[in-house]
Amino acid sequence: MTTEAPAPHAHLSPSESVLNSVYQSAERLQLSPEVVDLLRTSWREVQAQLPVRMDDRKLRIFEGYRVQHNGARGPYKGGVRFHPQADLDEVRALAMLMTYKCALMELPFGGAKGGVMCDPTRMSDTELNRLTRTYTQHIGMVLGVSRDIPAPDMGTNAQTMAWMMDAYGQKYGHTPGIVTGKPVELGGSYGRDQATGRGVAVCMRQYAIMERADPRDLKVVIQGYGNVGSWTARIASEMGFRIVGVSDVKGGIANPDGLDIASLDAWFAVAGSVAGFEGGEPVTNEHLLELECDYLVPAALGEVITEENAPRVRARAVIEAANHPVTPPGDEVLAARNIPVLPDILVNAGGVTVSYFEWTQNIQQFRWSLEMVNSELEKRMVAAFHELMARAAQDGTLPRQAAFDIGVERVGRAILLRGFV
Ligand code: GLU
Repeated sequence: MTTEAPAPHAHLSPSESVLNSVYQSAERLQLSPEVVDLLRTSWREVQAQLPVRMDDRKLRIFEGYRVQHNGARGPYKGGVRFHPQADLDEVRALAMLMTYKCALMELPFGGAKGGVMCDPTRMSDTELNRLTRTYTQHIGMVLGVSRDIPAPDMGTNAQTMAWMMDAYGQKYGHTPGIVTGKPVELGGSYGRDQATGRGVAVCMRQYAIMERADPRDLKVVIQGYGNVGSWTARIASEMGFRIVGVSDVKGGIANPDGLDIASLDAWFAVAGSVAGFEGGEPVTNEHLLELECDYLVPAALGEVITEENAPRVRARAVIEAANHPVTPPGDEVLAARNIPVLPDILVNAGGVTVSYFEWTQNIQQFRWSLEMVNSELEKRMVAAFHELMARAAQDGTLPRQAAFDIGVERVGRAILLRGFV
C-alpha cells in the first residue's frame, strides 16, 4: 500500500484531502508505515439502504452511512449529516477529521461520522422523523454508549437526536448517552446548541489577543448562517468584533460599519434567510469570500476556498468554522500569500467538546450549569489553541500542520500502546 501524498495539484476527493495532511504529519513524526496504513482506511463502514414512506405515500430509498474511522483513543464519536452531498467519501473524510479533532482536544474518543444523502429542507417533519428512525434501526448494532455516540451535524439538530435516542431506546432500552446534542429536556447539556459557535468565537478572540488587537477594531466576515455561523456571529459580536458580512444559501449582506446582529436575527426569524436584510448591502456568496476584512470565517460547506478564489481573498486570516472549507491547493495559495489559516479541527471543536460534557453528564446522571459548561469549554479551547500555536512556533509549521501533528501523534501512540500493530 502506498502512503505517498498525491501530486499537490491533482483534484483530491474530500478523504484524499484529509489524508494529505495525515501523510505529511506521519512523515514529520516518522510514524511507521504500518501505523499509517491503519490510519489510511476506516475501521468499519456501514452503508445502508433506507426505505422511507413519504407523505405522498410513495416509497423513497435513501442511502445512509456510518463510518467509524479509528477508535484507538476511545468510543467512536461524530455527527450525522443530512445533505445531498453526503456521499461515502465525504462522510469518510469527516470521520477522519473527528479522529484528529478529538485527539487534539484530548477528548477520550475516536472518530466517526454518519450521513444520509437527502435534502432535509425539502422534507416534512414526519418524513424526517421516519427517515431518522429507519437510519437508527439500520446502524443501531454498531452504536453504543461505550462504542459509538452520534451527534448533530449539517442538516440535523436536537430534534433529530431526540428521534434517534427514542428509536434506539425502543430496541435497547432507555439510553440517553447514546447520542449527544439532544434537547435539554431529554438529557441534553446546557450550552450544546451554541457550543461550536462559542468555540469559534473563543479561538478568534485568542487569535486577536495574540495579535495584540482589540476585537472592536477587527472586521469579521462569516459565510453561513446556520447553527455554527449564527452563534459565531452572536457571540463574536458580544465580544466586540465587528461583523461586516454574512451569507447563507439564499444570498448575503455586507456593511463595513458592522451589522446589527440582534436586528439581523429578528429579520432571519421572519424571512428564513439573511438575504434581504435592510441593515446592509446585498452581496453574493462568492463575493462575500472576497470582501476586505480581518478574519474570514467559512462556516458552511467544505471546499469553498480553492486555488481559483484564494488569490482574491482579502482577509488577514482565515478561521475555519466549517469542516475542510479550504482545499489543499487553496491552502498553498493562502500560505504563499502569508494568510494564516486556523484549522477546522481546532476552530470547530467546541461542539464535540460540549458533546463530551453531555456524555459525561448522562453517564453520571448529573447536570452542569450553563456557566460551568461555558467556562470548561473556554478553558479547553484556549489550552488547545496555545498548545497548537506553541507547536507551530517550535517546529516552524503552519497551524494546520501543527494541529495534525498533535492529533496524529496522539492517535499513533494509542495505536502502539493498544498493540494494534
Ligand atoms: N458534528 C460536529 C463536528 O463536526 C460535532 C460532533 C459531535 O458532537 O460528536 O465536530
